Amino acid sequence: MTGDGRDHDHFIEELPDLATGLLGGRERAALLDHVHGCERCADELDQLMTAADILVHLAAEVDPPVGFESRVMARIPVRDPGPGAVTDGDAVRSSWALQLLLLP
Ligand SMILES: [Zn+2]
Repeated sequence: MTGDGRDHDHFIEELPDLATGLLGGRERAALLDHVHGCERCADELDQLMTAADILVHLAAEVDPPVGFESRVMARIPVRDPGPGAVTDGDAVRSSWALQLLLLP
């Protein structure tokens, strides 16, 4: 498929996931196959990968301010866990913090 049509519309929406390494397996292979034949997607992917590289460098160079982690942890609500749930506040906060770290 070339740069037009349904495939293009579908694939171009997946380009950010490819650029950030979130796409794998068959989806990644199919998208790469499309990109090789589609100039618009190739250009878009090139721009996205450049932006992703810049963000990775910025994130690696900037340390959070002193006390950032403790302020974040203090703002994370400790909800009523309900029966059978983890009741330790630190564990609940750690779970929230882990989810924050895993956000794309
Ligand atoms: Zn395309």
